[in-house]
Amino acid sequence: MKLHEYQAKELLARYGVAVPAGGVARSADDARRIASETGGRVVVKAQVHAGGRGKAGGVRLVATAGEAAEAAARMLGASLVTAQTGPGGVPVDAVLIEETVSISRELYLAMLIDGGAGRAVIMASEAGGMDIESVAEQTPERILREAVEPALGPMPFQSRKLAGGLGLEGAAARALSRLVGSVHAAFTENDCSLVEINPLVVTADGGLVAADAKVTVDDDALFRHPDLAGLYDPAQEPPIESEARGLGLSYVKLDGDVGCLVNGAGLAMATMDVAVAAGAAPANFLDVGGGADEEKVAAAVLLLLSDPAVRRVLINIFGGILRCDVVARGVVEAAARFEGPVPPMVVRMLGTNAEEGRRILSEAGLAVTLVDDLGAAAAAIGELG
Ligand code: GDP
Ligand code: MN
Repeated sequence: MKLHEYQAKELLARYGVAVPAGGVARSADDARRIASETGGRVVVKAQVHAGGRGKAGGVRLVATAGEAAEAAARMLGASLVTAQTGPGGVPVDAVLIEETVSISRELYLAMLIDGGAGRAVIMASEAGGMDIESVAEQTPERILREAVEPALGPMPFQSRKLAGGLGLEGAAARALSRLVGSVHAAFTENDCSLVEINPLVVTADGGLVAADAKVTVDDDALFRHPDLAGLYDPAQEPPIESEARGLGLSYVKLDGDVGCLVNGAGLAMATMDVAVAAGAAPANFLDVGGGADEEKVAAAVLLLLSDPAVRRVLINIFGGILRCDVVARGVVEAAARFEGPVPPMVVRMLGTNAEEGRRILSEAGLAVTLVDDLGAAAAAIGELG
C-alpha cells in the first residue's frame, strides 16, 4: 500500500528526517492560508500515488499566497496524468503546500527489498531528481547499492562509502549517516517495501532535506500497523482493485481479455503464461487463496466478470484446502448473479473433489470447456479468441 507524499514525510520526520515546513490543503482557501503562514513563496504539489509529477505540471513553484491558491484550484478536483499513470490519470484530492528549499544539488536515496539478495538494500545516486529513471537505464554505474545485513543494520562503513560516492564531506557526510539510520529505522519498524527520497536536496548550507518522499508498506504487514492501514486512499486505485482489497482477494488489473481465476500466486503466474502461450493476454491476476469458501469464490468471479474487457475465462484450480466442488459452486452462483452474458470458460480442475466440481460445472448449463492439462487449456483458450 502506497502512502501519499505528505503522509510519507510525516512518517519520516518522526524518525528525524528533515522535511520542508508546510501543510496539506484540500481547497484553494486552505492553500492560501497555509502558503501565507509558510511565507508566501511556496511549492504546490499534487498528492497522488504516482511519480513523474514534476514533468506533468503536478509541482508548481509560486511566489505569493494568491498564486498558491490559484495553482491549488487548478490541481484540485482534476486528474493528473504522468508517465507513471494510465491515460486517465489519478484524481488530485489534496495538495501539499511547502516552503521552498534552496537546492544546491539533488541526490537520490532509497531503501527497498532486493528479493534476489533476500535483504534490504540502500540505493543512492549523486544524479537524483526528475531523470533518475534514465540515469538507471543509461548509466547504471551512477547508482550505488549497499545491501543491509539484517542482524546488523546499516554499518558506519557503508554510510561512509555512500557519502564518498555522493560527494558529501564533513557535516553533510555525518548528516547522511544519520539519515541512513533514520530511513532504516522507519523502513523496518513500519514493514515498508520501499522508502524513496528523490530529490534528497543538499541545501546551500550543506544540510540534507527530503524534498520528496515515497513510502510503500507491505500489504501483508498492515494488520500490525492499523494507523498506516487507516491512510489507505481507495481513490488512487482502479475501483476494481480497491473492491478486491475489501474482499481480501489479491487482484491486479492487466490489459488482455482472458479473465483468470486461480488458487495460489505461483499457479496464477503459470496460468497467465498459458494464456500468453495461446496467443492471448490475461485481463487480470487473481488469486483466491487457499481458505476461500463458496461465497468468496463467487465474489471473485463476479469481480472478474465486472471487467468489461473480459471476453473469455480461464479457471485453473489445484484443489487442496480449497476443494474443487466449492469452487464450482462459487462459479455457478456468480454466473447466476451476473447481470449480462457470461463469457465462455475453460476450466482445469485437479485435486480434492475434482470429479464433483467438474460434474457441477458441466450440469450448470454454462459454456464450459473442461480440460485436463495446461496444454489443452491453452488450445481451448486459443479457440475462443
Ligand atoms: P516527482 O516528479 O513526482 O518525483 O515530484 P518531486 O517532488 O520530486 O518534484 C519534482 C522536482 O521539483 C524536484 O526534482 C525539484 O527539482 C523540484 N522541486 C520540488 N520541491 C522543490 C522546492 O521546494 N524547491 C525547488 N526549487 N524545487 C523543488
Ligand atoms: Mn520525486
